[in-house]
Amino acid sequence: MNMTTTGDAGDKSSPASPNGNKRQGDWLLRRLSLVARQDGLLSRAQIEALLNQAPDDAMPAAAWRAWIVMVSDACKLQMSGWSDEPDVAMLPMLMLTPEGEMGVVLARGADGSWRIDGPDGLGYTHDWQPGAQFTKVEVSGVAPARRSAKAFFKETFFADRRWVFYAALVAVLGNILALATSLYSMQVYDRVIPTQGFSTLIVLSVGALIAIVLELLLKLARSAIVNEALSHIDINLSSGIFERLLNLRMDQFPSQVGSLSGQLRSYETIRAFNSAISLFACSDAPFALFFLAVIFWVGGPFVAAVPLVFLILAVVVGQLSRSRIERAAMAGTGAGNRKLGLLVEAVSGAEALKAGGGGWQVLTRWNDLSRESVRQDADIRHLSETSQYLSAALQQLSYICMVATGAYVATTGSITSGAVVACSILSGRVLTPVNMIPGLLVQWANAKAAHKSLEAIFALRCDNHEVERPLVPQRIEGRLSLQDVAFTYGPEGQGIAIPRLEIAPGERVAILGAIGAGKSTVLRLLGGFYCPQQGRVLLDGLDIQQISRDRLSEVLGYLPQHVSLFGGTLRDNLLLGLSSKDDEQVLRAAQATGLQALIAGHPKGLDLPIAEGGAGLSGGQKQLVALTRLMLSAPKVWLLDEPTACMDSQTEERCIVALEQAMADGATAVLVTHKHALLRLVERIVVLTPQGVVLDGARDVVLRQLQGGVVVSPGGNPSNRPQPGNPSAPRSAPSAQVMTTR
Ligand code: ADP
Repeated sequence: MNMTTTGDAGDKSSPASPNGNKRQGDWLLRRLSLVARQDGLLSRAQIEALLNQAPDDAMPAAAWRAWIVMVSDACKLQMSGWSDEPDVAMLPMLMLTPEGEMGVVLARGADGSWRIDGPDGLGYTHDWQPGAQFTKVEVSGVAPARRSAKAFFKETFFADRRWVFYAALVAVLGNILALATSLYSMQVYDRVIPTQGFSTLIVLSVGALIAIVLELLLKLARSAIVNEALSHIDINLSSGIFERLLNLRMDQFPSQVGSLSGQLRSYETIRAFNSAISLFACSDAPFALFFLAVIFWVGGPFVAAVPLVFLILAVVVGQLSRSRIERAAMAGTGAGNRKLGLLVEAVSGAEALKAGGGGWQVLTRWNDLSRESVRQDADIRHLSETSQYLSAALQQLSYICMVATGAYVATTGSITSGAVVACSILSGRVLTPVNMIPGLLVQWANAKAAHKSLEAIFALRCDNHEVERPLVPQRIEGRLSLQDVAFTYGPEGQGIAIPRLEIAPGERVAILGAIGAGKSTVLRLLGGFYCPQQGRVLLDGLDIQQISRDRLSEVLGYLPQHVSLFGGTLRDNLLLGLSSKDDEQVLRAAQATGLQALIAGHPKGLDLPIAEGGAGLSGGQKQLVALTRLMLSAPKVWLLDEPTACMDSQTEERCIVALEQAMADGATAVLVTHKHALLRLVERIVVLTPQGVVLDGARDVVLRQLQGGVVVSPGGNPSNRPQPGNPSAPRSAPSAQVMTTR
């Protein structure tokens, strides 16, 4: 197998690996549980047991095969039989060479290369080692796209519960050691002072010192364990949320990008709360009861009743401020997100703001939102500080009452004065967790608000929504059809309705229409980016929503009206999503489109740096980059939305020639344009209005009709241009605006 490794996705060493030579087994176990999307399905003990049975890395395929069956059973994956030939329909599939080398084959690139994830990282390969075998990995579990935010957090957070267990264990030991201080005081008062036993005092002091040092070490260990676990959780959470965002279907994308980024980032709040509450519930809170029991044991029921009463009082005080903190947090989070939204809007539209002099209006909105967010923050701070001060006051009161009750009980001779001192120290420990309640309440309220907005994002539909197993057709001919399609933007938004539109394989069609007629919308429907509320969009007779998005990205080349580039280099942008394209291929495509001038004119050539969003390149240059990338991907179906809108006539002409050549091998093309020059590429024209298709026919026939004065009535039927002076004739004539002359 000739594999090009492009990155390191494998964990080369693992604490779980019993020995170094089972690296492959450890890797496979991790990858399969990832494929199964069932992180946390296996307990640590199960993982260890499976790894102990894994063959050594040097063992041949036969030894691995039996183990793989064992692992797939444990991961609730079903494996089909082994096949000698890889097949796209089998993706994701496991590959095993006769020497026991293995990898998970994830996808097939448009250029025929296979994307493979192996113990040494991600890579691409064109040819397989002789004797390599393949088996399909079938997932039986809840598709991640259908998980709620709550389920996602639960799975990620408790995928590995060890950290909670260790943290709790350390807390238990630490708290037991903390007892030493109070017992030390008790012994000093009761045994050392009355008997002047200085040697006892030295022994006791050394013992107490050791206990304090041990407690410190345990706390440090707990912090290390929890931080390590939380770093993993953080990475998994952010990766899962970002993946979810990437998988959202385009028509589901919330329109407020800034607010959306605020909402997405709020997972940090949930993570912080989850870790705090887990530790609180597992380690701190139970110890309030434990210390209460010790007080009961040392000081008797009267003395123990005092901290119990104050414990209940402190919880009630926390509860009273809960709903107000929650309301303030909800409003504060909303204002914070809107502020972020405005910031993104102002930065991206800075030029328009300056040109139009609208800065002060945005500043007013910014100040309003700032005031709201600051007010809510201050409210939360005030509420939490109030309950914190109240808790502290209760703690002091508890101490005084405790000493008073203890002293009274001691005078009756039931307990010693040492016991009173010990109980008063322990009473502080009972109320310590209670002091954490106000802070936890604030975190909880913020996390609840964050959870609500994240849940709304998780409820949005993803690509291939509700499709159990998306189709991965290997051969695509490029037949497109819209059947009884109706699509609207939101309940009151504008939409389009197209009862029928057929585009044959290899056919090249231009969609014309006035602005707002719905041309771009049709293109997005044809690309499967939008799902119609009614009817179906078919590619080669298959519902496009059923075809895997990854496969669609390979066979459909979509050029949006507004091209977005990504921060990085020109090469990164040209090769986005493409594999195994060498510089020569890139330069050839650039030569064809005219991008070569940009590459040659910059000292860094293909490594020309591109700023975030493509800043630094003109609109026409961005279009050239996107068009060149499309040439490199050589799609079967081209969907081009005003591909040359920002180009000068010379560059446009060059691009038209390049497109003609690129489409010469029978590619299907749908082109939205206002430019006459581009019509050279097509043989058919469809004229669209918001009411639907009004003209559809051979290019020259439709052009003659348009030039001859056929107009499009609001009812959607072509009619003759209205005669002057005839008020009843249709007045709207959008077809006159469908083309520019060039
Ligand atoms: P065209 O490409 O023909 O100019 P579009 O397909 O972009 O038209 O838009 C068709 C109609 O849908 C327009 O009236 C436009 O206002 C509306 N529209 C387009 N995109 C959105 C969107 N994301 N949200 C709401 N309405 C939209």
